[in-house]
Amino acid sequence: MFKKILITNRGDVALRVLRACKEMNIPSVIVHSTADADSMPVRLADESVCIGPPSSAESYLNIPAILSAAAITGADAVHPGVGFLSENADFAEIVAAHGLTFIGPEPHHIRAMGDKVEAKITAEAAGLPLVPGSPGAVHTIDDARKVAADVGYPLLVKAASGGGGRGMKVAETADNLAEAFSAARAEAKAAFGDDTVYLERYLGLPRHIEVQVIADAHGNVVHLGERECSIQRRHQKLFEEAPSPALTADERHKIGTVAAEATRKLGYLGVGTMEFLYENGEFFFIEMNTRLQVEHPITEAITGIDLVREQIRIAAGKPLSFSQKDVTFTGHAIECRINAEHPETFMPTPGKVTAFHAAGGPGVRVDSCLYSGYSVPPYYDSLIAKLIVYGDDRDHCLARLKRALQEFVVEPIPTTLPLHLRLVDADGIKDGSYNIRWLEEVFLAD
Ligand code: ADP
Repeated sequence: MFKKILITNRGDVALRVLRACKEMNIPSVIVHSTADADSMPVRLADESVCIGPPSSAESYLNIPAILSAAAITGADAVHPGVGFLSENADFAEIVAAHGLTFIGPEPHHIRAMGDKVEAKITAEAAGLPLVPGSPGAVHTIDDARKVAADVGYPLLVKAASGGGGRGMKVAETADNLAEAFSAARAEAKAAFGDDTVYLERYLGLPRHIEVQVIADAHGNVVHLGERECSIQRRHQKLFEEAPSPALTADERHKIGTVAAEATRKLGYLGVGTMEFLYENGEFFFIEMNTRLQVEHPITEAITGIDLVREQIRIAAGKPLSFSQKDVTFTGHAIECRINAEHPETFMPTPGKVTAFHAAGGPGVRVDSCLYSGYSVPPYYDSLIAKLIVYGDDRDHCLARLKRALQEFVVEPIPTTLPLHLRLVDADGIKDGSYNIRWLEEVFLAD
């Protein structure tokens, strides 16, 4: 096992990895920016190293500073967490070149899946069903029109380097294809420095359903079922549940098997998530995330498997501690992302938290870096707590979620807690009939 793990992340993610390290008796080091010197993970860390000023470019993305921190503390492995450098293939390569173990997939898998055009080609070769669209990148408007003639409207122009919903534009008809094409390219260039785009059929009312996969270096591949992530605002997930209320046991088994088989064909290592859109009983692959997901705790809740622990064990060369037949799905879990954002305008609300009380009691897990007196810094994303609730079935889980949300206190900064409290009572949530447009076009439009 590793002698010491360097955690190159912040907030609740750093805390999540730190907790796994402590439970495995592995010493760890947390790197942090000056803005996070008083953060909870730094306070609880065995060791911490300040690697730069608040801006992420100079701290959490500062590879030379991170490598220096590993060298001076004697770390032999690096856990990148979620976001920041977790899907940076160059970083994974550099870490390995310095004799350290990157706790994640191999660089070539990160690279292939990081480019969505290549990801779709790779996924198709591995047997995954795709959203109909261009066979690769589309460079000119004339080529875009040729694809449109084949695929039909509405069409979605998507950035090859896209993430977080950026660089995506809908062309409803041929009349606005040129506009969507150039707008997506411009946004992609500005956000990712790469204006490569591709085209996909724009599905009407799909659900976003993703499958968790995990593979070790000994040829063992397992799927851990699906997560339903259709509650999104601006393509950002806010509320996730497992299992999906839309799937039958048969569909669950089928898509899980397809995803696990593709993982095996890819020769993938570690944890990963295959994201699909699901409409009229059909699945369409959209992308694969080659890291832990923010919403991984709901899978942990219904399977009893600690994904971070498994990630660390796999990176250390150990075999998976379970096989597919050992995996059973029990009960129901929901995660609410509590953001430091105004619940109606969604403007970020950084600032000092003077009162914090986390919900508790049976079936409740809170992954949060908050404490009373903590100042939420303005420099990073606005997630401040994940509330994960488990119940015997979906109704039990929703009832428990409601009472947990009622117990939760974060003051005085506005947060998305009131939004979640309204959500649990909404018909679209109660009957599970929602899709990816429901939150914005029905719930928030009311
Ligand atoms: P990103 O990496 O930017 O998050 P994704 O490809 O994962 O981009 O898509 C994010 C979200 O955008 C999806 O969850 C879905 O809501 C929407 N979306 C993506 N592709 C399509 C499509 N072909 N049709 C309709 N909606 C889509």
